[in-house]
Amino acid sequence: ERMMEIRRQNCNPMIMKVTYYKKPVFFHQGYMQWLWDVDGRRYLDLFAGVATVSVGHCHPKVAAALQRQLKRVWHTTNIYVNPTLHEYCEKLASHLPDPLKVVYLTNSGSEANDLAMLMARLYTSNFDIITFRGSYHGGTQQTMGLTSNSPYKYPIATSSGCTNTMCPDVFRGLWGGSHCRDSPVQTTRQCGCAQGHCMANDQYIGQLKETFATSVPSRIAGFFGEPIQGMGGAVQYPKNYLKEAYQLVRERGGVCIADEVQTGFGRTGSHFWGFQGHDVLPDMVTMAKGIGNGFPMGAVVTTQEIAASFAQAFHFNTFGGGPLACAVASSVLDTIKEDGTQQNSHNVGTYLMTELAKLRDTYEIIGDVRGKGLQIGVEMVTNKASRDPLPPGAMNEIFEDIKDMGVLIGKGGVYGQAFRIQPPMCITKEDVDFFLAVFNKAIQRYMD
Ligand code: PMP
Repeated sequence: ERMMEIRRQNCNPMIMKVTYYKKPVFFHQGYMQWLWDVDGRRYLDLFAGVATVSVGHCHPKVAAALQRQLKRVWHTTNIYVNPTLHEYCEKLASHLPDPLKVVYLTNSGSEANDLAMLMARLYTSNFDIITFRGSYHGGTQQTMGLTSNSPYKYPIATSSGCTNTMCPDVFRGLWGGSHCRDSPVQTTRQCGCAQGHCMANDQYIGQLKETFATSVPSRIAGFFGEPIQGMGGAVQYPKNYLKEAYQLVRERGGVCIADEVQTGFGRTGSHFWGFQGHDVLPDMVTMAKGIGNGFPMGAVVTTQEIAASFAQAFHFNTFGGGPLACAVASSVLDTIKEDGTQQNSHNVGTYLMTELAKLRDTYEIIGDVRGKGLQIGVEMVTNKASRDPLPPGAMNEIFEDIKDMGVLIGKGGVYGQAFRIQPPMCITKEDVDFFLAVFNKAIQRYMD
């Protein structure tokens, strides 16, 4: 009660709204894939603080690295040569293919995407950016413009009367024209379809060409894509889509940016980076979340050529690349290697997908199971024929029941219709079996 009172009086009121559960849970301890609430009850964490805890809560090796650095130095800013920063940049760059070798460190994914957008515009001297329906790229004003998932935008009235913050009208003079009346839901310039499974590749590419033909000038600055959509509900591109899209974007002078905030650091199992699963080479890669296993951190990695064009301006970030964050992130990279985290993500993720597919074939209300490695979405529908999204009340009932049985999962999708499973990547097959039993029971109870 006291906690709730503090939340009401002193916390960002949004926290009250987004609290996942009707009866909030207060966590005060974590270890690897487990969280404990203040009453000592243990939960299997299959959401990892929105796909952030990559190698495990309070992982002993990472905690030890943080402790070592805590006793050395916390902060200098990067106006001085900071060995922890330089060693980390070298180590991170060694995880990316040529020519992606220049690292900029930030404190979050939004900051990383904001910076990448600026770099794309300076490098190309163009302005327009294309993103996807269902995408999420951040919560700062600029990255909210990249984000198309409308619940994450703010209803600020614009001069045209459109209530969507990111209506291009807000940017009159820069964007030119107004698109909000034609397309009330999607006012960012985007392409593709939120339903990763519903169209063939040529239809998607057709939509992208249509976007170029109808709403984007012949030259663009950049194209942002999550290799697998996160908040959108683990939506995947059809095979070859990204390859063809990158080509179309580059023909129009744009650069291609892979937002690896959720998909990086081995989460997709088969590859260290999500883009590698699409056989493409981005011009910039943005990352955060799993990079620090819960410690605030983000990065943009790009080419020498793009970095050179950016060097014309002064760029400074007080906390980005701080010694504590770099020590943690460096240890995260070592731990991923030493613990076989990526391989585990592949093995356990494949097992979980196979078992979930069986449930999909059993239950009418599971419309789709998708994703890769430990980035998995389970789309809930009223029935398979209509594929109508399961309404929020029903989603919450199942979700809450799963939590009461001791498992935490996430929600997502443009209609809030997808359950998301993106755990710390140290989970085991036994954990998966436990979750499957719980999920089965929750669905059965809902249907009874
Ligand atoms: N990109 C993606 C794909 C994300 O999922 C998120 C956060 N959910 C962000 C960017 C923004 O990251 P942050 O919250 O660290 O600013």
